[in-house]
Parts: sequence; structure tokens; C-alpha cells
Amino acid sequence: MNISIVIPLFNEEESLGELTDWILRVVNRENLSYEIIYVDDGSSDTSWKIIEDLNRGNSNIKGIKFRRNYGKSAALNRGFDLAKGDVVITMDADLQDSPEEIPDLYRLIKNEGFDIVSGWKKKRHDPIGKRLPSKFFNWTTRRISKLKLHDFNCGLKAYKNVVVKNIEIYGEMHRYIPVIAKWAGFSKITEKVVNHNARKYGKSKYGLERIMKGYLDLISLTFVSKFGKRPMHFFGLIGTLLFFIGLVIAAYLTYAKVFMMEYKMTDRPLFYFGLLAMVMGTQVFVAGFLAEMISRNSFHRNEYLIEAMVGDKSAE
Ligand code: UDP
Ligand code: MG
Repeated sequence: MNISIVIPLFNEEESLGELTDWILRVVNRENLSYEIIYVDDGSSDTSWKIIEDLNRGNSNIKGIKFRRNYGKSAALNRGFDLAKGDVVITMDADLQDSPEEIPDLYRLIKNEGFDIVSGWKKKRHDPIGKRLPSKFFNWTTRRISKLKLHDFNCGLKAYKNVVVKNIEIYGEMHRYIPVIAKWAGFSKITEKVVNHNARKYGKSKYGLERIMKGYLDLISLTFVSKFGKRPMHFFGLIGTLLFFIGLVIAAYLTYAKVFMMEYKMTDRPLFYFGLLAMVMGTQVFVAGFLAEMISRNSFHRNEYLIEAMVGDKSAE
């Protein structure tokens, strides 16, 4: 199969029919074999009924429905599990992403060998209250990930099948899929300018709280990918540094007290600073030990992504 189109949706009953017709028009015109996987993220409207009807008319249209709303990342993750096509394309269900982009995205992955092609909504049709924070968000993510993309959070993206089978997303991490993939070792990542439309029906499922959540996720992601398998290298370093700063201060104050005897040690602000540094240093160090012990017990501690193998395969 050429393409799996994975579409997460939450209460998008007005758009589904129109979206499906449009996708079918495009893939049939281009002679692509396809499957459409609708992941209903616990909708309370008639979305699921529509998906069931679509499936009755065309068995290439598949669906899965969560019992409750788990979020877009969960929906994508589940859709990725099911996807069988060589190229996996994700898009939003609200008609903001255009199915006309599918053939180009497919060709970029298939013929030019990219792991990921990320959409770039260069001309965006969203309210300014959303565009500004988004600019800032993209800038920070670019700095941290060293990945030169303009628009990390675009719903329209294309992946090589092997990529989606080897990354795991949860929480609100769908915004960072290219970053996650890059850190997992998939480095051929590019972007393509895509058409973007204003939301036609319904309303956006996200408000301003997404900014805060987004940043916290970026911090955990950075930490986990760098130090997840070796937490002591992070906590141990900081802890030791802090402790030694404290120790040097204490030694200096003791020296001054013994040999100069001109003040009370506790009158000097430096005393409290030194004390604090030593206590904090020990705390951080111990936190590192605990993290290390937890990660030793982790099921995944020796899980690595294997790209290729020759010769003896008994180790598989
Ligand atoms: N979505 C989802 N689960 C959620 C929230 C959103 O599956 O909890 C879907 C939604 O139906 C849409 C896509 O994710 O297909 C993008 O959501 P939305 O259009 O509200 O985001 P925006 O375009 O405003 O960034
Ligand atoms: Mg939208």
C-alpha cells in the first residue's frame, strides 16, 4: 500500500464527509493505493456514526474510537500503530490542511528518501492570538532542537513508515514529533510550504494553556532524551558542583574565623550561602542516585533502535 492517511479528530462531524470526498478525489486522480485511518478521540457528536457509514461504503476507510478524550498525541500514536502504508501522512480533520498536498508529500518521501516532511503553514489563517505565541514557540524549539523547521506544530506531515513505528508520543508531544524523531536517529527531515485554510466548521480544540504545556513538554523531552538513560550525569554534576562551592565557602569562613577572629561567622551573608549550597548539593546528588536506581529497573533500559544488521542475526 502506498499511503496511510492518519486523521485524529474530536467532534468534527461537519467536516468529515467533505474531507473524505476531497482525499478520495486526490488519491484516485493520482492512482495511489491508500487507507484512511480516522482516530476518533472520544467525540460526543455524531462523528463516529459518520465514520462507520464511510467504512460501509469503502473498506479502505478505517476507524477506531477512544472511549474518552485522550488528546491528539494519543490519537496519533494509536493511528501510527495501525498504519500499513509505505508513507504515513497525518492531517487535521477540520479542513484546515489541504489534501491537495498529499501527492507532493508522498513523492518527497518515496523518491527523495526523506524520513519526515513537515508542513509549513507559511500563510496562516488563524487568529493573531494564536500566531504570535506560535512564532515564539517555534523559535525556542528551533534553538533547543537545532532543527531548522519553521512550523513544528503543523498537523500536516508525512513520514516513512519505519519512523512512525519507532517513535512514541503521548501527552501533548505531537508538537515535537520531528524533534523526537531526530533524537531517535532519523535525520533526513525537511519541510514543505503547504496551503492552510481558516477553520470552516466548529471551533479550535486548543486555547492558551497549550503554550504552558508545550514548554513543560519541551523541557521534559530534552531531559529524557539526553539524560533518561544516565540521570546521574546530570544530577551528579550539579550536585557535586554545588557541594564544592559550599565547601570552599565554609573553608574560607573557618579560616577567617580562626586566623583573623574579627567577626562572628553567622554575621556574614556568605555563611548562609555556603550552608545552602552544601545542603542543596547533597540533595541533588541523592536525587541523582534515586533516578539512577529507577532507570536501572526500567524495562526499556537496553532498548535501542536498530537500523540494520548483517551476518549473525541470532541476537535479534
Ligand atoms: N483533536 C483531537 N483531540 C483533541 C483535540 C483535537 O483529536 O483532544 C484534533 C482535532 O479534531 C483536529 C486536530 O486535532 O483534527 C487539530 O485540532 P484543532 O484544529 O482544534 O487545533 P488548531 O488547528 O486550532 O491548532
Ligand atoms: Mg485546526
